[in-house]
Order: sequence, then structure tokens, then C-alpha cells
Amino acid sequence: MADLDVVVVGAGFAGIYAVQAMRSAGLTVRAFEAGSGIGGTWFWNCYPGARCDVESTDYSYSFDPALEQEWTWSERYPAQPEVLRYLNYVADRYQLWPDIQLNTRVTACVWDASRREWTVLTDDGESRIARFCVMATGCLSAQHVPAIPGLETFRGEWFHTSRWPREGTDFAGQRVGLIGTGSTGIQIAPEIAADAERLYVFQRTANFAVPNRNRRITADEVTAIKAGYPVHRAMARESMLGVPVTGTGRSALSESPEALRKTYTERWEAGGGMPLLGSYTDLLISREANDTVADFIRERIRETVRDPGLARLLSPRAYPVGAKRLCQSDDYFAMFNQPNVTLVDVRSSPVVSAYPGGVRTATADYEVDALVFATGFDAVSGALTRIAVIGANGVSLRGAWAAGPRAYLGVAVAGFPNMFLVTGPGSPSVLSNMVLSIEQHVEFIRDLITHALSAGASSVEATGRATADWVAHVNDVAYATLFPCAESWYVGANIPGKPRVFTPYVGGVGPYRSRCDAVAAAGYEGFTLTTVGGLRWLFR
Ligand SMILES: Cc1cc2nc3c(=O)[nH]c(=O)nc-3n(C[C@H](O)[C@H](O)[C@H](O)COP(=O)(O)OP(=O)(O)OC[C@H]3O[C@@H](n4cnc5c(N)ncnc54)[C@H](O)[C@@H]3O)c2cc1C
Repeated sequence: MADLDVVVVGAGFAGIYAVQAMRSAGLTVRAFEAGSGIGGTWFWNCYPGARCDVESTDYSYSFDPALEQEWTWSERYPAQPEVLRYLNYVADRYQLWPDIQLNTRVTACVWDASRREWTVLTDDGESRIARFCVMATGCLSAQHVPAIPGLETFRGEWFHTSRWPREGTDFAGQRVGLIGTGSTGIQIAPEIAADAERLYVFQRTANFAVPNRNRRITADEVTAIKAGYPVHRAMARESMLGVPVTGTGRSALSESPEALRKTYTERWEAGGGMPLLGSYTDLLISREANDTVADFIRERIRETVRDPGLARLLSPRAYPVGAKRLCQSDDYFAMFNQPNVTLVDVRSSPVVSAYPGGVRTATADYEVDALVFATGFDAVSGALTRIAVIGANGVSLRGAWAAGPRAYLGVAVAGFPNMFLVTGPGSPSVLSNMVLSIEQHVEFIRDLITHALSAGASSVEATGRATADWVAHVNDVAYATLFPCAESWYVGANIPGKPRVFTPYVGGVGPYRSRCDAVAAAGYEGFTLTTVGGLRWLFR
């Protein structure tokens, strides 16, 4: 007999909502969270400068209209402490705490085929039996520290941005080396440069960044935002990115240079990446169209960075804009005009090792007192494959995904009955406003579980055929765009040895939702329901 209907692994935006949703559906549920607090991304990433890059109006739950009326965001792009406060408010408001167990890492989930239940093992030595597992482990939670020879000999302190000390750090008077110039590196660099005696930014790939134009939200704006939520959320649900973006509806290639400049300048001045990338219909499809916006951003970098040689090194050329996550910062490029900031080009002279006093590249030694790794995550699949998940017939998830992750709708894996992934590989996930995508996935999973239970089924599983068709569709859509042109974490390129598979679904949040709704309306097409006696309904 199962202890619980549902075990939820993780208590970030996804796990918190999963607890609320399962409980509201009358199911018994318990979430296990490795951290000492809830919040996931917003608990762990407490580095200076951490803030969201989707506006607070969108980057917040929409499942309860009362909640969005009660909570008031202070900034357009809130910083990490405010998002974390919000998530704790949600847990208080819905009294979720009794069903969340902190400081507990799930180490293994093993399917018992005869009892049709999961045994969930945790690092406190306990085990729980659950009918269903909801993996809310996060797309960006399994931290990645590059294997730099000699790091263990380094005399100073080193930090990964996603495990920042909660008591903070003081870099005053220190020489600091920053490795990694993606979204996080670009956020933290100006903060370090403001305190440190010297900041060395080790750059392998120059990345595009657009201004946030972050600011406080006025009282009048708050009133308008709250009144407009119903319409705004409805538009977001139908949109491509999970955020309503008004584009011109035209191809960039059909525009005159003057019209292009006008559009890009207006959107650059307004701030935010999504409005710029959403301005023309073909920016993420045609390299020629993409070059128009890439040239515009490179021009802004040349305008900002006084040293032309430095501006050249900071100008991205290796990939189309948007094919990697488009970074947002109001002060990253201008920071390079500060006399205490040095850019180290490790593309032409790679890092070879760390030594007690600093970092050695192929051509020089850099003496530093502290090292900061903004080197990201084993994205999308990493947190899942770090758990020993054993499904039907003793097959491990690691083995099943040896050639790359595969999941039907990004939500279920063939051979792993009664296990569901929130924003898994093959769903819009990291290419969308993730809070909206999380809500949609959790609701789909909740409805599928209640459907299976009311049908008297003991298990529900994605079929291999439906999975293969979906994965082929995900690939077809991706390879019709520029997304796979970048060596990015979207394809696992940041993790040595990881199979290169383009994981997010680029077909859009609205179309993806419609597909999930159609699957549900057709009696969960692509899933097999099995009764205790073994009778199977196959919906495909
Ligand atoms: C710095 C940063 C900024 C971001 N900004 C944005 C943004 O502006 N907009 C946007 O859409 N997205 C953003 N993201 C993506 C962000 O991860 C998601 O928006 C969202 O917070 C994910 O929520 P989640 O619950 O799915 O995962 P997470 O928040 O990552 O939570 C997963 C939780 O699962 C726990 N866990 C994992 N494995 C186990 C285990 N085996 N046992 C127990 N617990 C486990 C982890 O400790 C973690 O707390 C950002 C990510 C980062 C890193």
C-alpha cells in the first residue's frame, strides 16, 4: 500500500505549484527538496546581481486570480530576494509547508512493476512508496563546474554562482577572476567590478546582451497591471514565448534599413530581449534577417565600449542572436570602460590550469585572490540523470537517455510509468516564460493522474511510438530555425561528453498548449493506461 499518492521531487516554482495542485485535486502529496529552503533557482542563485529577465507581470503564478491581486511587485525585473519572498508567501498563503520536506535529496526512484508503485529513496536513509512521481527537479539546477586542472591547489576561495554563500561575499581590495560570460556572468560582473580591486573576465564566447531598462513600478502602473491581468494572462497563454509580445508581423528582409533601425532602436530603448527578438517574423529563421539585429547590437557595443579593440572582442560573431539565451544587462558593456576591469580572451589563449596564486592561460598567468564560476548547469536533463531512476524492466533513466533525452510532450518517458517531468526535454521550457510553462505542465500532469485514477488504472505511461513521433517533431521544428546553430547549453554543448540533442520545443507556448489540450481531449492519446490485472487501454 502506497504511503502517498504523489511524491514531488524539488520545491522551486514547479514543485511548489505541484504540491498545491495535487492537494487541491484531493491527492496526498509530499515534496522533497535538497535545499534548506524552498524556491529552487531563487533559493540557490543568491549571487549579487541575480534577477529575472522576464518581467514580473509575467514571471509570476497565474493559477489564482486572488494571488495576483494580493501580491505587488516592486520592480519591472525583480531581484532574487524579492522572487524568493514571493515564493515563500505562496507557500504560507496556501499552507503548503506540512507537505514539503526540506534538506532531503532524493537519491533513487525505483518502479515496482508488480505493485505498480514507486519506491523513493532519500539521503536521510528513508524510503517512501508513492503511486506517482512528479519530477520538479529544474532545468537549471544541476550546477556545472568545469574540470580545471589544479583547481584543488588554488589558495583563494572559489564560488559557483548557483551555490553562493547566503551570508554574501566581500571582494573589496581583492583581485577576482570570473569564468563564464552567459546570462549569470553578465549579471554578476558589474557587481564584482564595483567592489573588487581588479576583475579579470575570462571570455571564451562573446555574448549578445540587451538592456533591461529595469526600474521601479509606480503605483498607477500597479493598478493598471492588476486590472489587466485577465486579458494579459490569456494573451500570454496563446503566445509563442509565454509573454505577450507585439511584433511588426513583417519580415526583416522586407524592411528598409531606416525602418529596421527605427524598430530596433525603439525596442532597445524600451529594454528586454523578447520584444527585440519578436519584432520581425524571420529573425530566428533566416540568418540574413538575424544579421540585421546582430549588426544593430554590435553597433551598440562599439558605441558603449571606448577601446575599439576591446569592443571588437566583446562583439559576438559565433552564433545568431537568440540562438543562445539572450542576456540582459544595463551596465555590462559599459563596465569594460572601468580601469579595474580586464577582459581575458580565452578563445585565443585557453585556460590551461589553476595554480595556488591564480589562473594560467596558454600565454599568461593571472594572479587572483578569488575565483567565480558562472558556468551554468548540466541543463534540462542533468538533475534527472543524477537520480538513480529505475523504470520498468530494470531500465535506468540514464541508460534510456544515453543518446540524449527523449520524452513524450516533454512530460513522460516511455518505460517509466507514473512518472512525470515538469518542463522536461521536448517542451517549451527554457525557451519560454518558465512560470507559465510550469503551470501548464503541472495542470496537465494533475489532470492525467486524476483521469487515470478515475478510470481505475494503476499506471499510465507514454508509448514508445508517441514518443518517437514527438521527438521527431521537436527536431523538425528546431532544425527549421537558427536555434541549433549555436554551441549552447540548449544542445548540451557546455558539458563534455553530453550527447548533442536540441532539447527545448521551439514550436511555441500557445501551439504546444493546444497540442497538449488535444491529447487530453482525445482521452490522452499516446499514453497507455494499465489496470492492476494488466488490462491495457492504448490510446494510439
Ligand atoms: C539565475 C537564473 C535566472 C533565471 N531567470 C529566469 C527568468 O527571468 N525567466 C524564466 O522564465 N526563467 C528564468 N530562469 C529559469 C528558472 O530556472 C525557472 O524560471 C524556474 O525558476 C524553474 O523552476 P523549477 O521549479 O522548475 O526548477 P528549480 O527552481 O531549479 O527548482 C528545482 C529544485 O529541485 C531541487 N532538486 C533537484 N534535484 C533534487 C533531488 N534529487 N532531490 C531533492 N531536490 C532536488 C533543487 O534543489 C531545486 O531547488 C532563471 C534561471 C536562473 C539560474
